[in-house]
Amino acid sequence: MDMVAQLWMLKQIYQDENRYFDEASGQWLYRIPKTIPPEDLEALNAAGHGPNQMFLPSHGKVLEELARRSAAWSLQEAANAFLAGLWSAPFLWQSALTAKVLAMGIPPHSHEPFGNSADTCAVCGCLERAVDVAQEWYFCMTEGTPLDGDPSGNVLALREMEKMGSRPMPVDYDVWTFRAVLAVIRSMPPHARYSKVRDALWKEKLLPTSKKWVYGKLLETLSFLGILDTEEYPGMAVSFTPYWKREERPNVRVEVQAPLAWWDSSIGIHEGVLEKIFPWIDISPVDLAKRPTPMPPLCRTVTGCLEQKRAPRKSYPKSPDAGKGPARAGDVYAVCIREGVWVTIYCHRIEGNKAVVEFLEGVFEEFPGKGQIQLLARPRRDGRWLTKASGIDRHPGVRRVARDMEAPKVASPEPEKLSFSQAGSLKSLAWWCFGEL
Ligand SMILES: [Zn+2]
Ligand SMILES: [Zn+2]
Repeated sequence: MDMVAQLWMLKQIYQDENRYFDEASGQWLYRIPKTIPPEDLEALNAAGHGPNQMFLPSHGKVLEELARRSAAWSLQEAANAFLAGLWSAPFLWQSALTAKVLAMGIPPHSHEPFGNSADTCAVCGCLERAVDVAQEWYFCMTEGTPLDGDPSGNVLALREMEKMGSRPMPVDYDVWTFRAVLAVIRSMPPHARYSKVRDALWKEKLLPTSKKWVYGKLLETLSFLGILDTEEYPGMAVSFTPYWKREERPNVRVEVQAPLAWWDSSIGIHEGVLEKIFPWIDISPVDLAKRPTPMPPLCRTVTGCLEQKRAPRKSYPKSPDAGKGPARAGDVYAVCIREGVWVTIYCHRIEGNKAVVEFLEGVFEEFPGKGQIQLLARPRRDGRWLTKASGIDRHPGVRRVARDMEAPKVASPEPEKLSFSQAGSLKSLAWWCFGEL
């Protein structure tokens, strides 16, 4: 099974609607949508990328493995893999360089609990929490290096690279891409923060992705390495900056870690770090207007190909008793929670452009018919729950089953205050009334 097919399947699995808390293992896992054929899932498992395979990092072992695996890379080999991972090879290869530079700087130490999150190490940021191995692979393949330089994420990335076999060498277009990224950063107006630089890179479409946050991830990677750092907060190729220090931010609105959190365009590119990591390549600015033809073309890159794939449009059934016209009192709608799970709602009345609805008893494997409707209100644990929902005639996952139904049996009067909601959020709100979902 090729990589794009694997990633495409994982993309469909790792949707919020498929996430659930598994009481038995005490973990968040993902349901496999019924649209995925069992033989495809088997092939995904055989490729080592089946979902819900958890890895629980333990600090000492992670640091030992990071040292061992990264020792198999020279800095130049890792830098080459990074360059290739900008365009011609999957993004995963960028992590060769973060792992190598991290391993070069990390001091020997034991796990030191970080403030309130005791499972995070204050020195290296290693998070001792179970992760889904295939999901980590998916993120490294489609977004970039592990978040905040987590050593365990870097170890998992190194394992995946070893599985892939030969290490990629950058083609001319990869080097051009890197020089173009640096050229955009150098051409920013004074004091431009990372979000402005991210937007500028995204506008130039320098990476094989249309996702803006991925350009932000690249800046985080460059900053982690030390290419965009500050004197107070050096990047890893300059000196090891502990996790607790990288967690310092100028204000709470800044999401990224230091050094990037403190960097701006007036500080500029740390030329010494570029010379240390990439001494053999010409990194002088390129003219963005004279862009060479991408090699390979966008549609042949892993991310470019993946982003072109579209799920077949879900076709929802139509009830013979649905009638015509907008929602009115007495209507019953079915709400698709996810593939193969439906519940129903009763429309008590219309207020303005909103329908006052309440969940009814009954969970259905398929779109229910009029005869299956149970006219019995389904409360939350603390009593009846109604909501003023907008857009129920416009949302594809909310379909009318029948009209002119009698009001459901209720155990108590309507609550005085009703919440507002969107038709699209009913599927997640249903959880409050149907704990078993
Ligand atoms: Zn540590
Ligand atoms: Zn400034």
